[in-house]
Amino acid sequence: MLETMQDTVTLANGAEMPILGVGTYRADEGGEVEQAVRWALELGYRSVDTASVYGNETGVGRAIRDSEVARDELFVTTKVWNDDQGYDQTLQAFDASLDRLQMEHVDLYLIHWPVKGKVRDTWRALEKLHEDGRARAIGVSNFLQSHLDELLETCEVPPMVNQIEFHPRLQQRELQSFCETHRIRVEAWSPLMQGKVFELPELQKIGEKYGKSAGQVTLRWQLQRGVVTIPKSVKHDHLRANSQIFDFALTDEEMRAINDLDQNARIGPDPATVGF
Ligand code: NDP
Repeated sequence: MLETMQDTVTLANGAEMPILGVGTYRADEGGEVEQAVRWALELGYRSVDTASVYGNETGVGRAIRDSEVARDELFVTTKVWNDDQGYDQTLQAFDASLDRLQMEHVDLYLIHWPVKGKVRDTWRALEKLHEDGRARAIGVSNFLQSHLDELLETCEVPPMVNQIEFHPRLQQRELQSFCETHRIRVEAWSPLMQGKVFELPELQKIGEKYGKSAGQVTLRWQLQRGVVTIPKSVKHDHLRANSQIFDFALTDEEMRAINDLDQNARIGPDPATVGF
């Protein structure tokens, strides 16, 4: 279903994950992130993406605690940063994240980047957190197929999500189909190309037909591709606009036209060469 912003997809372990969430990278700890998350929840968002490295888990937690929305109606994601990887370190990092969030559990805990030589031990820690019910679902981020191959060979519980850079200029088609085959849900980071999608005339043109912006067209395209999306904004009108993507549907032809915009062009680091 792609009818409301509270619609969910079912992950491989049965957990329900909202198809739309709000990102918080570069939303400053304290007032800025708190206000953004508060607005997002008021507007009907039910999923919030943070990470220990964003330095804003405390504000995210506070906004959630102060809101009228019950914790069990929300889906909160955080991530273990590269310096904290390894079995014991990850368990400690998770405790520290929960402490900052002031929560008993998160809905999704991700390995932020594949750190060479650490993935297996880090993943064992995530499996333990999942088994204990403190992370309702577990997954990875920035994993290429080679990283997933290695993990899938040794894991007991396969990752349920792979959060990757995904937008019209970087579509990672083979990786998406590999993930689908293994029941790993793809989640898009930088879904709006950090604001650059608004400049693409092909998207503007498609949007004209529906009275939508290039950004709204892009988010809708992600959902119709089966990809969970988490656009970031700290502005009320942008948060609202990013949620107004459920009153139109792109045609097959429009989907193909957007698929054709792929240039395999990244904004962020390439997991193949980043060298963590
Ligand atoms: P996005 O593609 O979501 O773009 C965010 C930028 O677009 C901001 O500058 C925002 O500005 C602007 N923007 C948002 N909505 C609108 C709008 N309607 N009109 C005009 N401008 C708009 O980039 P992010 O890199 O933030 O990615 C989204 C989220 O993904 C992150 O916040 C984070 O949670 C996650 N992420 C994960 C990574 C990983 O390695 N796993 C890496 C990067 C991101 P403003 O706030 O002023 O509206």
